[in-house]
Amino acid sequence: MTAALVDAHAHLARGLCAAGLVPTDAVERGFLTAHRELWWRYDRALDEAALRASVRLAVADALLAGTTGAVDHHESPSCIEGSLDVVADACQELGLRAVLCYAVTERNGGRDEARRGLEENARFLASNDRRLVRGVLGVHASYTVSDETLREIGDVARDLDTVVHVAAAADSADVADARVRGFDGPLQRLLELGALPEGSVVAHAVGLGEREVRLANEHGLWLVQCPRSNARGRSGYPAALHLARRAALGTDGIGGDLVAEAAQLAADAPGREPDPEGCTARLDGGAAILAERFGGAARTPAAELAIGSLRVDGCEVVAAGRLVAADGDAIRAEAEVQAGRVLARMERG
Ligand SMILES: [Zn+2]
Repeated sequence: MTAALVDAHAHLARGLCAAGLVPTDAVERGFLTAHRELWWRYDRALDEAALRASVRLAVADALLAGTTGAVDHHESPSCIEGSLDVVADACQELGLRAVLCYAVTERNGGRDEARRGLEENARFLASNDRRLVRGVLGVHASYTVSDETLREIGDVARDLDTVVHVAAAADSADVADARVRGFDGPLQRLLELGALPEGSVVAHAVGLGEREVRLANEHGLWLVQCPRSNARGRSGYPAALHLARRAALGTDGIGGDLVAEAAQLAADAPGREPDPEGCTARLDGGAAILAERFGGAARTPAAELAIGSLRVDGCEVVAAGRLVAADGDAIRAEAEVQAGRVLARMERG
């Protein structure tokens, strides 16, 4: 049996973008341009209705692509409180196993925004009892949070006995920021401030060298490569990742198709990896992350994947190529309506 396909770094809230309903051309204009002109504006434009429609579309697309689980990195600065319940309800209803977090940041509203994000994580961790969903803590990226916020996140993670999901070294800008703040790099900063307990998930990791990957190994961290996102954003290749003991593949919100992600890795690996075929084993990492978070409370997230049929946790979630729990056409129609509203709000900034 092949391992279940699990997206180790998802952005389910970007389902409208992945489906082409919100244009993402800015991605080709570099990391900071893409973030300031596209992703940050898009995130701010999400209200509860748009978030729900976007996540439902992303979950539907993932399941129909044979993906059974996701480790999600979520932000919706205009509706922080309760947002993880919106994401969790969509996953539970449609049948996607998920590890959720709110990605804490200070980039829109300073320390107050960070506090609200951290409270949403803690609230969700304490209240969620959905069978298919678990919570962890989230940080957007080292360069959008202060030392004080990172220390607080570490304290809460230890109190709640959980891990942290963060983007790090996705671009040289993140590395330069950490150095200006007096650290060797973003990974060292996150570790020195206590924000990465063992088992934490560090996504992107393009700018991590051999020294940093060894450091990640010493601390039991997962490193998640996002091959399609890196290729599209021309953000480079994580050449030291072959040293990682715990490595996985994520879509970075490009769409829930892990087979396409593995194909991109297979195309990029020759000449960059010492073992171009062996590195595709990273595809199994996502399922291992889910197994760690679900522990004994749920079976290993293995799926029976047959033509047009998908089972998650013993339940059929796709049958004859269609979702079991909801009408895929209605999900798409609602997403189109919400995309129009989101685009109008993005125009206004
Ligand atoms: Zn990401």
